[in-house]
Amino acid sequence: MDANGLAHVPIKWDKSKRRMGGCMKARNCHGVVTIEYITFSSVVLPVVTDEEAVDTVKHEIAHALAPFGDDHGLQWMGHAINLGCKPLPCCSEKFDARQIVQMGWKFVLECPSCKAAYGKNKLKTGRYSCPRCKSTIVIV
Ligand SMILES: [Zn+2]
Ligand SMILES: [Zn+2]
Repeated sequence: MDANGLAHVPIKWDKSKRRMGGCMKARNCHGVVTIEYITFSSVVLPVVTDEEAVDTVKHEIAHALAPFGDDHGLQWMGHAINLGCKPLPCCSEKFDARQIVQMGWKFVLECPSCKAAYGKNKLKTGRYSCPRCKSTIVIV
């Protein structure tokens, strides 16, 4: 982190089960953008591979370096490529059923086509369709 001039940025841990990390920025009344903190999930990071965890750290550093509001835009992508991580949005990670169980979800749904697994704490009646490939997913 220091090498990127981000040594002053606080790192936090959160309990998110839906994303691996995040970068919080704020703009004050003078229009100055500051990085408030970078956060990583203490629930998700331990269940992914080291490679994915490192990728997540780089992903969030790229957010910290990119301008406010760029989101996963071209500037962010440029930083991501420079840092050597996959230039893909955070929500693109794919978990398997075992990882979903390790994260502590009550119900595990798995897509029979693309094998992506999703966690739910409450089940609704009716069908669930896979956000990736739109097939009907099943409770495992
Ligand atoms: Zn992102
Ligand atoms: Zn699918």
